[in-house]
Amino acid sequence: MTVTVRTLKGSEAKISDGSLDEFRMTVRGDVFTPHDPGYEDVRSPYNAMHPGTPALVVRPTGTADVIGAVNFARENGLLVAVRGGGHSVAGLSSVDGGLLLDLARMNGVDVDPEARTVRVQGGALVGDMDHETQAFGLVAPCGVVSDTGVAGLTLGGGEGWVRRKHGLSVDNLLSAQVVCADGQVRTASADSNPDLFWAIRGGGGNFGVVTSFTFQCHRVGPIVAFAGVFHPVEDAENVYRQFRDWARKAPDEISALIGCTTLPASEHTPPEIHNKPFIVTGAVYSGDPEEGMKVIQPLRDIGNPLADISGPLPFVAVQAAFDEFFQRGTLRSYWKSTFVDELTDPILDIIVDKARNRPHERVFVVTFFMGGAINRVAVDDTAYSERSANWMVSIDGNWTDASDDDQVISWVRGAWGEVHEHGTGSLYLNFTGVADEAVTVGVESAFDKANLQRLEDIKGHYDPDNFFRLNNNIPPAS
Ligand SMILES: Cc1cc2nc3c(=O)[nH]c(=O)nc-3n(C[C@H](O)[C@H](O)[C@H](O)COP(=O)(O)OP(=O)(O)OC[C@H]3O[C@@H](n4cnc5c(N)ncnc54)[C@H](O)[C@@H]3O)c2cc1C
Repeated sequence: MTVTVRTLKGSEAKISDGSLDEFRMTVRGDVFTPHDPGYEDVRSPYNAMHPGTPALVVRPTGTADVIGAVNFARENGLLVAVRGGGHSVAGLSSVDGGLLLDLARMNGVDVDPEARTVRVQGGALVGDMDHETQAFGLVAPCGVVSDTGVAGLTLGGGEGWVRRKHGLSVDNLLSAQVVCADGQVRTASADSNPDLFWAIRGGGGNFGVVTSFTFQCHRVGPIVAFAGVFHPVEDAENVYRQFRDWARKAPDEISALIGCTTLPASEHTPPEIHNKPFIVTGAVYSGDPEEGMKVIQPLRDIGNPLADISGPLPFVAVQAAFDEFFQRGTLRSYWKSTFVDELTDPILDIIVDKARNRPHERVFVVTFFMGGAINRVAVDDTAYSERSANWMVSIDGNWTDASDDDQVISWVRGAWGEVHEHGTGSLYLNFTGVADEAVTVGVESAFDKANLQRLEDIKGHYDPDNFFRLNNNIPPAS
């Protein structure tokens, strides 16, 4: 039986049994067609809006398999989606009819405690990395949900609980191993293919399959001072303003956020917030926990909280705190974000209005306190370009029923538009949903003009045929 696979040209390629068997012989990992047992378990990613129906799924066990899969796909002209952790908000690691290259089995993590570095494979999750680095009291800056992939998060920037002290994930990347469209393996670092190294620090999956990343780590944890304070939504104006005023004076050790959502009952959250809209302020202090608890105290003193779960906590527990509410395949997601220099009163008024009038209980209106180390990197040092804003506002549409798609998506667009008018004009591609937009949505706004031009040139060099196109796609310069 032949397998019909979508091609880069939009036509269909017939892969014969013989060719597929030959390919299977060259890889150690799994190759699934829709008829194979196990296919259903692996085809879908995080976002329930983009389940994907790949014609082939390849799950490599190492770089050799990735090379084999890239060559097989290129030689047959196949449309390929690459998946690291599968958390793409835009569904960029899903494909209908094409070949899905899913790196989930490549989740190895190796810490060098003396050099304070960590090498992680391209399918590792944030939790895989934290588990290993924290054994040595180290952290490589990454995201705040442990089930997110290190790969996609890093390739788009990567912001988490230590960002203001230690920067973004891209700011801590030392090198990467990349399988490019020609099937060649390249090391990307300051000394080796520096143009590729520059491009993958923000330019997404455009340049090849990253089979491993090496990061600089920092001493954080195992215990950190954590603030988690829940307020009634009725007190939003007061809480948002006081949070902003506290943050403005906070040291770089503080990374913080404020958001509004509603969560179902859980044994891990205080009963006072179950099934009720709340405002949450959250912060982590990257330093001495005792000192950190003093620094976050004013945040705990704001208003009359419904509940306060602040305290010295294991860093890995903080990293897993949101996991329960973001389980794979359970939510439909469409997010849009925008950077703003300052949280002025007019912007706060818009945010508070949106927080109060969310169209679905799981919609999360969240504002991240940025700046610090992130803004000490020059705009042209990395492809990632937003190096001046102090805040990022993200309108995270999350809901459950397909019948609500239109309503929530159009609300997210409207809410985002109102905040974006006051913003720097830039946005975070990792927080950019795709509904009926092209995969290029947001690309022009996300990058500084000169950075985008350079990205197009580098794309033209490493991937002139746009073989890697299911990503925040950068057109190759001809
Ligand atoms: C619940 C949730 C929480 C999040 N929290 C944070 C957060 O705290 N901080 C933050 O910065 N972002 C966060 N994000 C956004 C996240 O950074 C992006 O969704 C990111 O794309 C996820 O990476 P992934 O590997 O899981 O995604 P995938 O869906 O696997 O891939 C996303 C993109 O990266 C490409 N890609 C993935 N792996 C590779 C690889 N090995 N080589 C080349 N290309 C690859 C894919 O082709 C695709 O284009 C969150 C997202 C969700 C859904």
